Amino acid sequence: MLQLRPNCELCDCDLPPESPEARICSYECTYCAGCVDGILRNVCPTCGGGFQTRPIRPKQSYREGENLGLQFHPASEQRVHSPYTGEDIRAHVLRIKATNPEDR
Ligand SMILES: [Zn+2]
Ligand SMILES: [Zn+2]
Repeated sequence: MLQLRPNCELCDCDLPPESPEARICSYECTYCAGCVDGILRNVCPTCGGGFQTRPIRPKQSYREGENLGLQFHPASEQRVHSPYTGEDIRAHVLRIKATNPEDR
């Protein structure tokens, strides 16, 4: 199950589960759209992969007998921060951004 992390790992802004601004890589590293577009240029600082919009988990179960939705699987409350420095991230992005995610 996708872990819905509560913040951008770079600028630390809040990314609640219903936020359309949340972006994730395939490892669930989570950033805001502003950081992904403006600073990361679609390069994950950790794995180097691209980002997609994080799917929004529904609040409630819509099927009888199925325990689904935030009601049963709430968002994580553990804030995550990238361990890499700004300088490191800039060099990493520069090295990778010209290659499309499908070719990395
Ligand atoms: Zn951010
Ligand atoms: Zn990643």
